Amino acid sequence: MPVKAKNDVRETPMSSEMPGATDAGLRSGSVAPDPAVARSGLSMHQPLPRPILWLAVPLCYFAGAKLGVWATAMPDGISILWPPNAVLLSAMLLSRGRDVAIIALLGIAAEVAADLPTFTLAEALVFGVANATECLVASHLLKAWSFDPRLGRLADLRKFLIAGPLGAALLAAAIGGAAYWQLRPDDTSYLEFVRVWWMGDSLGLLIFTPPLLTFAAGGHARAEGRASASVGAADLAVLALGIALLAMLLFPQWPRLAGVTVAPVLVIPCVVYLAARFDVRVVSGAVAVVGLAIAYATSHGRHPFGDLPPSESSMRAQEFILAMSLLALSLVALLRQLRDRQQELRLANERLDEFNRSLEERVEERTAALDAMNRQLEHLAMTDALTSLANRRAWFIAARGAVDNALRHGHPLAIVMIDVDHFKSVNDKRGHAAGDAVLRHVAATLQATVRTGDVLARYGGEEFVLLAPETDLASAVALAARMREALHEQAVPLEGSLLSVTASFGVTVLDARQDSVDRLVHRADAALYEAKMAGRDRVSALAPDVPAEAKPRC
Ligand code: GH3
Ligand code: MG
Ligand code: MG
Repeated sequence: MPVKAKNDVRETPMSSEMPGATDAGLRSGSVAPDPAVARSGLSMHQPLPRPILWLAVPLCYFAGAKLGVWATAMPDGISILWPPNAVLLSAMLLSRGRDVAIIALLGIAAEVAADLPTFTLAEALVFGVANATECLVASHLLKAWSFDPRLGRLADLRKFLIAGPLGAALLAAAIGGAAYWQLRPDDTSYLEFVRVWWMGDSLGLLIFTPPLLTFAAGGHARAEGRASASVGAADLAVLALGIALLAMLLFPQWPRLAGVTVAPVLVIPCVVYLAARFDVRVVSGAVAVVGLAIAYATSHGRHPFGDLPPSESSMRAQEFILAMSLLALSLVALLRQLRDRQQELRLANERLDEFNRSLEERVEERTAALDAMNRQLEHLAMTDALTSLANRRAWFIAARGAVDNALRHGHPLAIVMIDVDHFKSVNDKRGHAAGDAVLRHVAATLQATVRTGDVLARYGGEEFVLLAPETDLASAVALAARMREALHEQAVPLEGSLLSVTASFGVTVLDARQDSVDRLVHRADAALYEAKMAGRDRVSALAPDVPAEAKPRC
């Protein structure tokens, strides 16, 4: 069956040109900067050094062409797969601007070199231009679609399949098939030419481009910490099994000695295992090796798919290689995507934890600040702002507790009401600020006199009250007398002069039989009134058994 020359070096020469293909190729590989490259994952890769690239491309292309013919050409001339276009496409994808056009020309030159022993220059040029066109179209599309050559995502695999094996290979097949059909008229239909060309080119691109690309992008994969997992005993066992299966497919006489035949489908679990365990570089490499081995076995009479006519046999091989490579490459991309997503989630969780921790710290700080503020507010609510003594509210709270306690345990308790004498005249003569200073002075003097455990408070205005637990009437009177003397001794320094301040004291004690804070205050008030009435600056006491008459406050 006549097929394109690369598939059969024994084919007769062709003479026609392929107008348009060369133009399209040169347009695609123009010297203008390639903005699409900058957008795509390709921009992450350093272009290969030009001398290496320009030497490696034709050599690898040449080797790939020879490999395609040697390893995969069926006896009827059909190559099951065609490797060199993968070299050309990979090089174009990893190059920019004018280099792409040079690579296309180098590919054409290599094709000519590979074909010349058998074909005319014109024929070889036609084949070269068809292949270069295919690769230029595919690389142009992939760059425009921001293709990432690491093939780590299903979206990139999809782009690659559409641009390369499906799109560009079909275009080349349509052009090449038409040329061939015109040059070699026989009973083969145009569509058959197209199918043969398309399948060979598609599979070549499909199984050789990923390992070449991912090999070139390997440095980045390692830098990102996504290199293949370390190899364990189970991996080696699966590898050994896969190699053994391939060996049995390539040398079927061995299993046949034991009465066994091996089907290629048995290799699939090994490839799937690799896809689950390793990254796309390893898997695509394995797919290329298996695909090539199956093609070799099929094209060299090993009949891995049974005793079929060559055309059917090659179709089975192509179907198998297509299904296996799609399965493995999709699976590895899917798993990589899942791992990436898992990693993203882990990072997001870590960030969330960190955020929560800082939030908790802030809440703790705020709570501590709030507690401190509450304590301050509580203090302010219980303190007299002018004298810094306890205020009336705080005193009553303390007094109720102390009275309850004293009544429960039968302990004595005294209170002393204190009222500054003629304080109004201080305000009137010296002003209100001087009056405040006198009140602060009196408060400090009284406070210095009382004992620990006593509670002195500003009752209101120029009045003070003292709660004296564990104190009987005589002690309370003595205490009030000490306070009175202290005021005598501590004249108030006011505007350069000393102002003598006196106060009157009303003392009473708790009635152990039945009493309350209000009754105590009432009695102390009455005693204070007596002190005032008796001439001020004195201490007056009222025992509980003496009925207290309701008298006006001082
Ligand atoms: P007595 O000897 O009878 O107690 O005479 P008094 O002048 O001390 O008593 P009176 O109740 O007539 O006057 C008390 C004055 O205390 C009236 C009021 O203006 C003044 N006063 C009350 N609270 C304050 C205060 O916080 N600061 C100042 N500067 N004066 C105050
Ligand atoms: Mg007074
Ligand atoms: Mg008063």
